[in-house]
Amino acid sequence: MESPSTERKAVIIDGKAIAQTIRSEIADEVRVLSQNYGKVPGLAVVIVGNRKDSQSYVTMKRMACAEVGIKSFDIDLPENVLEDELINKVHELNANPDVHGILVQLPLPKHINEERVLSEISIEKDVDGFHPLNIGKLAMKGREPLFQPCTPKGCLELLTRSGISVKGKNAVVVGRSNIVGLPVSLLLLKADATVTIVHSHTSDPESVIREADIVIAAAGQAMMIKSGWIKPGAAVIDVGTNAVDDPSKKSGYRLVGDVDFQEACKVAGWITPVPGGVGPMTVAMLLKNTLDGAKRVIQQ
Ligand code: NDP
Repeated sequence: MESPSTERKAVIIDGKAIAQTIRSEIADEVRVLSQNYGKVPGLAVVIVGNRKDSQSYVTMKRMACAEVGIKSFDIDLPENVLEDELINKVHELNANPDVHGILVQLPLPKHINEERVLSEISIEKDVDGFHPLNIGKLAMKGREPLFQPCTPKGCLELLTRSGISVKGKNAVVVGRSNIVGLPVSLLLLKADATVTIVHSHTSDPESVIREADIVIAAAGQAMMIKSGWIKPGAAVIDVGTNAVDDPSKKSGYRLVGDVDFQEACKVAGWITPVPGGVGPMTVAMLLKNTLDGAKRVIQQ
């Protein structure tokens, strides 16, 4: 028989259900905008080339727009499009008053400078929140970006909607990328957590993570974080999405997070599953950013 401590079960944070609630809230707001102003939010989703993973993300985003009543502008460009042609398209979308958000699906083909393309998106339409000005404002005390990056914003929303307070807590973020680790650290800091960032050069990540009341795992390393690294009762948000071989699956693989979910469930207070945790929130936050961008313009 298991001892009481190993029987402990964390609350599983159901990201899919929370994201669905947010999507229906967005749909309600879109309806109100349409009734009151005769306008709906518009999101341009730009994809270059035929990468299968990018295409499936883009399809998912376009379908999510349709579900909540956001008009999606589909821009599909060939793999060999010139950087200047792509930038001209971005400028065209910047000038289109029916487009309130512009998303350029990454990665772009190697011949295109991603940084240059992203910095051409008008900050008023930067729904991904990756423009250096938006990130800069996120980092500054007393400043607010027009948009917060979607995945980090989704992580904070999961904490809030699960009733987990951030203020004064020790938060450890594993990873420091521009799209997840760094902005989620800045958001936690803005929410008054004490934030530590673990990266690939951190010596003894275990002991750092063990001090955390809140762990945000975004290293892209399958099941790197073991149950023994987690403080009992901690909230664990697992952003990691890693494919591991699984011959029992038709596809030959399955997705796992950066945390050893099965074991961590016995120690953590709250935990997100992979899939079904952070992933659905990323799309919901994209829709939310588009709605907010549209409201700023339509209601002014
Ligand atoms: P990156 O590869 O850009 O960054 C990974 C970060 O983790 C780096 O900062 C790296 O450190 C750090 N890292 C790598 N290995 C270790 C290690 N062993 N110990 C400590 N730190 C380590 O990844 P992303 O930020 O783009 O993505 C992270 C994960 O999140 C991936 O699995 C990705 O698929 C997933 N993801 C999920 C999303 C969702 O919607 N669910 C959205 C975006 C990403 P260093 O800087 O020193 O190299």
